[in-house]
Amino acid sequence: MKVVVLTGAGISAESGVPTFRDADGLWEGHRVEDVATPEAYDAQPFVVHRFYDARRKALAAVEPNAAHHALARLEEALGDDLLVVTQNIDDLHERAGSSRVLHMHGELLSAVCRSCRGRSRWERDLVDLPPCPRCGTPDLRPDVVWFGEIPYEMDRIYLALEAADLFVSIGTSGAVYPAAGFVQQAAAYGARTLELNLQTSEVTTLFDETRQGLAGELVPAWVDEVLVRR
Ligand SMILES: [Zn+2]
Repeated sequence: MKVVVLTGAGISAESGVPTFRDADGLWEGHRVEDVATPEAYDAQPFVVHRFYDARRKALAAVEPNAAHHALARLEEALGDDLLVVTQNIDDLHERAGSSRVLHMHGELLSAVCRSCRGRSRWERDLVDLPPCPRCGTPDLRPDVVWFGEIPYEMDRIYLALEAADLFVSIGTSGAVYPAAGFVQQAAAYGARTLELNLQTSEVTTLFDETRQGLAGELVPAWVDEVLVRR
């Protein structure tokens, strides 16, 4: 059985990672358009750098939760038959033990060079304009997909959706495309579809089955079901 799992802000929120939908469309006091667009970066690079530098540092204060750990357990059993596609830019899946993870919106722990386009693992600040490890140019930006930019790995994601027997969406609002369209893509190629979310999402009606509740409770229970059935 081939399984594709999509995870969104909801699964990280239960670990204490703030999301921009938390409070009136603000993301830790910033409007999205001031920190998550290429235009914002061109206009105020230091504001954007300080925002992501702070978020990168804040990763040290959060831990993977039961949902992340359950998905790592599922990967142990399914191996290459499981792919986790995440909209999240934190590293909680990896720290829980998952290795087959695609970060379609990029990663806080990565920097991309605007000069050579190279991507480098990055754990320090960017606000002091360090040189690119690959080409030496001090033109690194957060390796995060901003609004108006094309997400990563779309070819691999669509191939996996076409091959999937089961598509599971966890903690996503269903408001951000292209991820919001994955359920229809998977269903069109014959996958069963399951949504695990705190509340109904904008695409709930498109799923074969929906369960509402905390990811930290729903995901371990669902993983147990899958493992028993095998
Ligand atoms: Zn470079």
